[in-house]
Amino acid sequence: MIRIRLRVVVVGIPGVGKTTVVESTASAWKNSRLVTFGTVMLEEGLRLKWIRHRDQLRKMRVEEQTKLQRIAARKISAMKESVLFVDTHLFIRTPEGFWPGLPFHVVTALKPTHLVLIEADSEVVLSRRTRDPTRYRDRVNKEELESELLLARSFLTTASSISGAPMMMLRNEEGRVEETVQRLIDVLREARP
Ligand code: ATP
Ligand code: AMP
Ligand code: MG
Repeated sequence: MIRIRLRVVVVGIPGVGKTTVVESTASAWKNSRLVTFGTVMLEEGLRLKWIRHRDQLRKMRVEEQTKLQRIAARKISAMKESVLFVDTHLFIRTPEGFWPGLPFHVVTALKPTHLVLIEADSEVVLSRRTRDPTRYRDRVNKEELESELLLARSFLTTASSISGAPMMMLRNEEGRVEETVQRLIDVLREARP
C-alpha cells in the first residue's frame, strides 16, 4: 500500500492553543515528528546573538525576521519524516505591521498537505494568554483580538490557494483539548487511514 505523506501545518493566533493541540496530536500519531517553526527561528536567533528569548523575535526589524524565517523554512523543508506536524503562525504582529508567516516562498517550501486553523472565542483566548506565565504575550483588547481572528481566516484562504492544500478551522473549546485533538486525527485519517 502506498503511504501518503502528511505535512500538517497548524496555525492560529497567539494563545489559541496550537502548541497544546499539536503536541498532543503528534504524540498520539505513531512515528510522526513535530517541529515548531518559531523554535527553529529562535535557535538561529540565539546562535547569532540577535535575541535572548522567543517573544523578542516578533519585535525585531522585519528584514531580520525575514532572514530567520527563510532559514527555518529551508531547514523544515529538508525534514524527510513521512508525517510532519508544523506549529506556526499565519501572520505576526510586528511593530511594522502584520507580517505574513506563510508568504509564497515559505508555504511552497513547507509543502503542506493540510492547513489547520485553531480557533477559540476572543474572551477565551484573552484568558488563556493572561493565565499562561511561560510567555510574554502582547496586551491586546477583545476588539483587536476579534479582528485578528478574522484576519487569520483571510490569511488561511490565501495560504490554501497558493499551496493547494485543503484548509480547516478547528475550534479548541475550553477544557476540551482531547476533543480538538480527536477531531484533527479523524480528519487526517481520511488521508492516511
Ligand atoms: P503561541 O502562538 O503564543 O505559541 P499557542 O497557540 O501555541 O500560543 P498554547 O501555548 O498551546 O497556545 O496555549 C496557550 C495557553 O492556553 C496554555 O496555558 C495552554 O495550556 C492553554 N490551553 C490551550 N488549549 C486549551 C484548552 N482547550 N482549554 C484550556 N486551556 C487551554
Ligand atoms: P511560537 O512559539 O509558535 O509563538 O513562535 C515563536 C515566534 O516565532 C513567534 O512569536 C514569531 O515571532 C515566530 N514565528 C513562528 N512562526 C513563524 C513564521 N511562519 N514566520 C515568521 N515568524 C514566525
Ligand atoms: Mg505555541
